[in-house]
Amino acid sequence: MKVPKSVANLIEVFEALPGIGPKTAARLTYYLLHAPEELTHKLSDAAHDLKTKTKICSVCQNITEEDPCDICSEESRDKSIICIVEDPLDVWSVEKSQSFNGLYHVLHGVIAPLDNIGPEELKISELLTRLKISSSKATEVKEIILATNPSMEGEATAMYIQKLMKPTGIRITRIARGIPIGAELEYADEVTVRRALEGRRDY
Ligand SMILES: [Zn+2]
Repeated sequence: MKVPKSVANLIEVFEALPGIGPKTAARLTYYLLHAPEELTHKLSDAAHDLKTKTKICSVCQNITEEDPCDICSEESRDKSIICIVEDPLDVWSVEKSQSFNGLYHVLHGVIAPLDNIGPEELKISELLTRLKISSSKATEVKEIILATNPSMEGEATAMYIQKLMKPTGIRITRIARGIPIGAELEYADEVTVRRALEGRRDY
């Protein structure tokens, strides 16, 4: 007996997601097959909204529904300090730690020569533009925190930005290694993220 095409299709979609193998993909599909129709509608609507309702903040490049995003438009935030992170999940992770009140800049990746990802694939030119605009206003940036992950690629990216930023004279710091080597910021607990931020030093 052949699996019906619509069932096989959904199994295939699930399997294409990270961390989901063939068994889990099949289990999820058969679960949905027996679940109330309302759930399958919710799932497809949520997936659809994810793409149609979100955009990238023109200031910090984070994922948002409003441009500028909530963080960039929050009056009480310290605009003189920018925390540079690899992806949007890192922003949420640092926010959860409640230890940072500045702004962010999301790179959307790291420099990875083996995967053919160079600096031009990241939101680095947007960062430079942002700094140029800010230097002419009262909201001058005084510090940049490099909060890329302590992986090889994260370190290389931090180093690249550090060299690029040096001529600006802006203070550049790197988060301390409260984050274990090989671990990722998005999976770190609040205390670890807070320690890492508090222990940052000039870089
Ligand atoms: Zn923003």
